[in-house]
Amino acid sequence: CGIVAYIGPKDATPILLQGLQRLEYRGYDSAGVAVVGRSGLKVRKTEGRVRDCAEGLPARFKGSPGIGHTRWATHGEPSDANAHPHVAGTVAVVHNGIIENADELRAKLVADGVEFSSETDSEVLAHLIARSSAADLAEAVRQALTEIVGTYGIAVIDSARPGTCVVARNGSPVVLGLGDKETFAASDVAALAGHTRQVVHLDDGELAVLSADGYRTFNLEGARTTPKEPSELDAD
Ligand code: GLU
Repeated sequence: CGIVAYIGPKDATPILLQGLQRLEYRGYDSAGVAVVGRSGLKVRKTEGRVRDCAEGLPARFKGSPGIGHTRWATHGEPSDANAHPHVAGTVAVVHNGIIENADELRAKLVADGVEFSSETDSEVLAHLIARSSAADLAEAVRQALTEIVGTYGIAVIDSARPGTCVVARNGSPVVLGLGDKETFAASDVAALAGHTRQVVHLDDGELAVLSADGYRTFNLEGARTTPKEPSELDAD
């Protein structure tokens, strides 16, 4: 349902939680956040409201990059386990949309010995990305997406590759927010309000590699796509 991502010098957690709160009007049943902290990936996800997820977060739940999600369940009941982010190894993924060939991909992964911790269609993405032999996170995400049939807006972080956050879209919106030495992404500009007014809308079939210094976009064949002129958000 809703996605927020941040990479930059600040602690991502409050930015993610505030962004998710701004997306609450869209409706959801669960919420979660993941950040790359000093000792690796930190993940918190719960059925219920964003404030339920935020409550009791330890002070050390800090880091960057980070991703957050509000879920509107399509595959698997609303529960803590089915809430996003979904984790495989050092990789964490949030996903909006529906992966139509999830059952088939899941059966293949299970036959290969992968253990699933949720009933969602989304979790296959985390495992596909984590199993890629690509050195580069964007390339691992690209390879995983070539196996997917369906709709997605996604954001991915990897504590083994902490300098980037990768986002992609196909049929589910993703907008980038460009700041000063920090970069944001969200499913809806409402989550970016107050952080930046410079936004870039991704096209369907496009991936973006975010760093604190900006972003680069690619298509699903791995070729660079033409950089777009950022548009300016209205002050209100
Ligand atoms: N299909 C995914 C799920 O059920 C994502 C739903 C959403 O867009 O929030 O977990």
